[in-house]
Amino acid sequence: MPKMKKTPTKEKPKENKKTEPTKKTVSPINLLRGMRDILPVDQPVWDRIRDGARQLASSYGFERIDTPIMEETGLFIRGIGKQTDIVEKEMYSFETPGGEKVTLRPEGTASVMRAYIQHGMLNLPQPVKLWYLGPMFRHDRPQHGRYRQLHQFGCEILGDANPVADAQLVHLGYQQLKDLGIESTVQINSIGTPEARKNYRDALQAFFRSRRSKLSDEDKKRLQKNPLRILDSKDPVVVEMKAEAPQIIDWLDEESKAHFMKVLEMLDEMNVPYQLNPYLVRGLDYYTKTVWEYYANSADQDLAQSALGGGGRYDGLAELLGGRATPAVGLAMGMDRMANLLKEQGSGSATEAAEIFVAQLGDQGRKKALAIFEELRKAGIPAFEAFSKDSIKAQMEMANKKEVKFAIIIGQKEVLDGTAVIRDMESGTQEIVDALKIVQEIKKKLGRA
Ligand code: AMP
Repeated sequence: MPKMKKTPTKEKPKENKKTEPTKKTVSPINLLRGMRDILPVDQPVWDRIRDGARQLASSYGFERIDTPIMEETGLFIRGIGKQTDIVEKEMYSFETPGGEKVTLRPEGTASVMRAYIQHGMLNLPQPVKLWYLGPMFRHDRPQHGRYRQLHQFGCEILGDANPVADAQLVHLGYQQLKDLGIESTVQINSIGTPEARKNYRDALQAFFRSRRSKLSDEDKKRLQKNPLRILDSKDPVVVEMKAEAPQIIDWLDEESKAHFMKVLEMLDEMNVPYQLNPYLVRGLDYYTKTVWEYYANSADQDLAQSALGGGGRYDGLAELLGGRATPAVGLAMGMDRMANLLKEQGSGSATEAAEIFVAQLGDQGRKKALAIFEELRKAGIPAFEAFSKDSIKAQMEMANKKEVKFAIIIGQKEVLDGTAVIRDMESGTQEIVDALKIVQEIKKKLGRA
């Protein structure tokens, strides 16, 4: 036998604080401001919203479209308008290494219209009804219910000038909220054609100019650049002034007025509760005629004041983007705010929790348990497992924590006998069954046979 070398006893390193490398503390990286994670615990609420949206859109005859999250910056500047808050201060725009000027989409309509034009959807039977769902990006001031990555569900009806399209979309958004158990009221207005709006804009500008000294700096800027935005001001002085300010309804052309009346009549017919809001103009330049927003019927001021969704007609957008004139109307619902509301109401449905735990002992047991887990999954019976754990005790503790009704246990003996143990987790009683019939047995126990 070769002489074993004596392993040298390791000399204890002398403590020498000077030469020891100092351990750097690494600070954790957190979320960007205004962004958030949607954690597993919140996913059931989000699933309800997403699934509801999907079902509703297809039941109204909409087809899904996905557009890229990033588009050429010019699309939004042309579509949304240079003087709007979104384009002026909220866009995530940057230059790519290839020198393209791009923007993370702040909303969905401009992209949908771009796709409609680009793919020649004008040649399809009109109207084309499209829906989408996904994240949007706005470098807004973050606060509760206002995020820099927000999620919207949207529907667009392209190639339809009839007021029935507006009414159908107003109804769709209202119905989505209702299906989620959210009672809401629609605020609605008409902002007419661009010409009518220009005349109104001039009248509004003249009105506020004569009161300019009382305006805040922010509102003075708005007065100069986009006087309609003053109507959104929360400044109490402006709120008071507004009552005497000209109202757009008095400046509408006959066609827009008649269109608006028809929309309202249809909403009456469909029992959609609405309030006329003469100050609702919506932030984007592309809107024409009908505009609307949804507010929860809530005693909570914060909730009652933040819109859950909104929409409007945008008959001029196609031309702004270089397409043929196409009347269109769209709706965008704020999924984050719906999710917050549902959570606050405590009405998120729980995830369908698995009622089974598959436990194993030993290598053979583990292999067999994997196969059984797969059989259950294929039969539509979700199960928990902890295949990386060896100890049966640790697995049973986990099964208890998960509050499952039954645990299936496969050890060496069960592998040899072709059986499985089913343990009733509440009573602690155990039963040995034929491993080949495990799915049937479990179905019976869960009352699904
Ligand atoms: P908009 O077209 O800008 O009115 O957006 C439609 C809906 O999206 C709004 O009614 C809100 O519910 C939601 N929304 C807009 N901006 C944000 C944001 N920054 N954070 C969360 N939700 C938003």
